[in-house]
Amino acid sequence: MFGRQKQKIRWEKTEKLVLPNVFLRFCDQCQTEQIFVSAEQATYLSKLTSRQIFCLVEEGTIHFFETEEGFLFICEKSLKKLSQQDLILEN
Ligand SMILES: [Zn+2]
Repeated sequence: MFGRQKQKIRWEKTEKLVLPNVFLRFCDQCQTEQIFVSAEQATYLSKLTSRQIFCLVEEGTIHFFETEEGFLFICEKSLKKLSQQDLILEN
């Protein structure tokens, strides 16, 4: 019984560590609640480079918010729109 309890505590700790860096919050530009992914995840999802992501943020092409700690999070919807545009351009 005691052993089981120990295992449960351990599992909870592990789960906390694998929490994704994703926020659900209101996007001022989309005017709806959106999923915001970390800059690293945005790079991975869009197949763009980190530099391209930051340039697009600066241009205002993709929506973002910055945490109090200074981490950048990207609106997934604006990112998806962008990759759809790219797809059209490629075809
Ligand atoms: Zn947005």
